[in-house]
Amino acid sequence: MGGSEHRHRAIEEIGSYTSLPGEFAEPDAPADLFGRNVFSRSVMQARLPRPVFESVLATIDRGEPLDPSVADAVAAAMKDWAIEHGATHYAHVFYPLTGLTAEKHDSFLEPDASGGGAIAEFAGKTLVQGEPDASSFPHGGLRETFEARGYTGWDATSPAYILENPNGNTLCIPTIFVSWTGDALDKKVPLLRSQQVLNTQVQRVLRLFGHEDPAPVTAFVGAEQEYFLIDRRFFLQRPDLLATGRTLFGAPPPKGQEFDDHYFGAIPERVLAFMLETERELFKLGIPAKTRHNEVAPGQFELAPLFETGNIASDHQQQLMATLRRVAEKYDMECLLHEKPFAGVNGSGKHVNYSFGNATQGNLLNPGATPHENAQFLVFCAAVIRGVHKYAGLLRAVVASSRNDHRLGANEAPPAIISIFLGEQLTDVFDQIVKGGATASKERSHLVVGVDTLPALPKDPGDRNRTSPFAFTGNRFEFRAPGSSMSIAGPLVALNTIVADSLDVIATQLEAALADGADFNEAVQSVLQDLLTEHGSVVFNGDGYSEEWQIEAAARGLPNLRTTVDALPELGRDEVIELFERHHVLSERELSGRLEVYLEQYVMSLQVEGRSAVEVASTLILPAALRYQGELAETAANLSRVGREPDLRTLDRVSECTTELCTAIDELRGVLDHPHDRPTLEVARYMCDVVLPAMERVRAAADSLEEVVADDLWPLPTYQEMLFVL
Ligand code: ADP
Ligand code: MG
Repeated sequence: MGGSEHRHRAIEEIGSYTSLPGEFAEPDAPADLFGRNVFSRSVMQARLPRPVFESVLATIDRGEPLDPSVADAVAAAMKDWAIEHGATHYAHVFYPLTGLTAEKHDSFLEPDASGGGAIAEFAGKTLVQGEPDASSFPHGGLRETFEARGYTGWDATSPAYILENPNGNTLCIPTIFVSWTGDALDKKVPLLRSQQVLNTQVQRVLRLFGHEDPAPVTAFVGAEQEYFLIDRRFFLQRPDLLATGRTLFGAPPPKGQEFDDHYFGAIPERVLAFMLETERELFKLGIPAKTRHNEVAPGQFELAPLFETGNIASDHQQQLMATLRRVAEKYDMECLLHEKPFAGVNGSGKHVNYSFGNATQGNLLNPGATPHENAQFLVFCAAVIRGVHKYAGLLRAVVASSRNDHRLGANEAPPAIISIFLGEQLTDVFDQIVKGGATASKERSHLVVGVDTLPALPKDPGDRNRTSPFAFTGNRFEFRAPGSSMSIAGPLVALNTIVADSLDVIATQLEAALADGADFNEAVQSVLQDLLTEHGSVVFNGDGYSEEWQIEAAARGLPNLRTTVDALPELGRDEVIELFERHHVLSERELSGRLEVYLEQYVMSLQVEGRSAVEVASTLILPAALRYQGELAETAANLSRVGREPDLRTLDRVSECTTELCTAIDELRGVLDHPHDRPTLEVARYMCDVVLPAMERVRAAADSLEEVVADDLWPLPTYQEMLFVL
């Protein structure tokens, strides 16, 4: 049997679809669906006694500590609501350092006292605290082995929801995850802490600008999720995709993305049905999704929910990724969230749109209409600029993963250099501030912040520089370096903290100047001038993909941390440790635990990739090459026997590539055999500098074989099939 039969059968099946697989979703109007499965504010209002409701609201809106005495009442209402919604189980949902979502499921039913029956049990203490078996989650040395316990605790600021399943629904309760010593073991704890710090420092600056009692401030976050869809049959035929999430082999297809004609207007019915059902599922969970389908690569799509407050946006992102994968399976497709599933084809990112504000003043990164508002806007904007410049290495580190390394700087995604795009107009304003009393614009002789009318600030810069990792897009910053499979919590923790840190410095300077009797506007002017003089070099409006930028960035002293191994040590730098400690977002212990976990993940994922490459190359590709070689040799022998001169060119080529492949496989096997007890930076460096290139050599030989071996012998679905047959 030829190695390709399963491939060809899949193509035939896909080509002959007459109806969609899966059940059709119910035809409810979106308005009836939205938030149906969420224990929302309005559900709470309807079901909780008034004082209990107000107490919970104080926690949600004003960050007041949760009053333990209300827990029982909330738990009872939540349980009744969940059971009415078909729930049989509840789960504490938490966000371990793997970046994935973890759940501990328990039944609502507990044996009653007589032992003869079961009653639905869900007390306040069960809502507020759980104790999952934590030993299987990475902690970077934060839990001693004899005390592996970890605790989950209800995060009242993120609503509970129902996860549907044909065999019974589950009430999901978003929680934090900490060790018995109180150290954060998850992504949520530092996010909540960083939100508090952001609130404190923004409010402090708002007070200086004369807002007496500012409403609580939070980050606003909208993350655009890119993903690929491929037919699940192909996916299951690719052990490399199954094991690692990306193709470790595959010659480029004859037609790539150079035509830029990807599907637009011609989405296969199956994909459209998938998108609509995904959207509906997200609506039920209260996730305001908005489908797009205009990504650059074939088979690539995007989903962007409307922005929400940081903590909720982060939880929703995790639900969104799970929903994409679950619904895709229902339609016989696999949703690939990997940053670079296909070499040579555009990768997938997760653009994190970021701003901050509050209920009364709205978005504080919105340029204002009056000089006073403008001055305030410029201060907030400058705070971001300072933070991004001073902590560029940190921002690179929080988007570092072996997966994202393939994407960043690959001429389709921002480079590893963190710079800011401001657009011409805003750059010009800041330039003028730096020059102080110098010529401001054509009409004005000089610019004084908060007194003069500033030149009109950009409402929506027409020029949207796609090559910048961090772009101002009119009323927010768009951080484009995060990868498609990542939790956005890490980037948000970094952003909240660096912005808060800048505002802390700014507020301290302004307060000191005012105490010295300085005029407020003059003080703002001078603080901005100093700050931009020192940090303005991070602003770059040009082409981030260009060679020249690499050179210029080096001249400006901006870090260019190309790989995860270069970037992760940033988490151990004194400056970064001090930043997080100063604002009580992460202790040194917690931070070093994180560094260790991330190094471990890097090492482990490259080990898995290396092993998978060896396996696929030696058990699928090499046998196909040898069979073909045998076939060609036999043909040549037959031709000679009948007195014909055989043309040996193909045989020679196949033999040459086969030898290369065998050599490369042996070499990769050899370098993978490198025992280590702990995933230190040296081990990570070894994986990056030795293992990855060895994998690349196996791939190069295998991909050359793909171009010569007869199609009916080729065992792996090709790039053309995976990307274009949907
Ligand atoms: P693009 O033009 O980049 O494709 P959109 O304008 O549709 O994007 O917005 C992308 C994301 O940015 C959405 O999630 C949107 O809700 C979010 N967004 C819009 N305004 C803000 C803001 N002020 N703060 C944070 N996110 C925002
Ligand atoms: Mg965008």
